[in-house]
Amino acid sequence: MGIVKQIWKCPECSFQTNYRGSCKDCSDKESNVWVHRERINADGSLYEKKLVSSPGVIDPDQMRAAFKQNRSRQKKTRKQMAAQKKQQEAELEALKAAQAEQKAAEGSGQPLGGITDIGSPGEIVFGVSEEE
Ligand SMILES: [Zn+2]
Repeated sequence: MGIVKQIWKCPECSFQTNYRGSCKDCSDKESNVWVHRERINADGSLYEKKLVSSPGVIDPDQMRAAFKQNRSRQKKTRKQMAAQKKQQEAELEALKAAQAEQKAAEGSGQPLGGITDIGSPGEIVFGVSEEE
């Protein structure tokens, strides 16, 4: 990928720059009028975006496919649901246990050595936040 020279042109006064933005001459801050420059090709024709993956420009077909894929991924069997619930409950229990242990450790003034045995705090947080 080489460096592509970008040219932006104001549709009102045809002033050209090599960066995007709104034209200072044609925009009026006080009346909230913003004239955005349009990107043009080297020959002066209007540049058309071809990047489908860029945010904001989404192909409807792609969106539909992504939606389908997302839905099929969410579809879970009863068994999977039960297993997931069980796992989440176990994670919650582990978190509670860790919190209780931390409290106990704080209360007795002991160093927080026992908590690392349950699992790193990062793992517990990940399991919980995944549900949201
Ligand atoms: Zn202008």
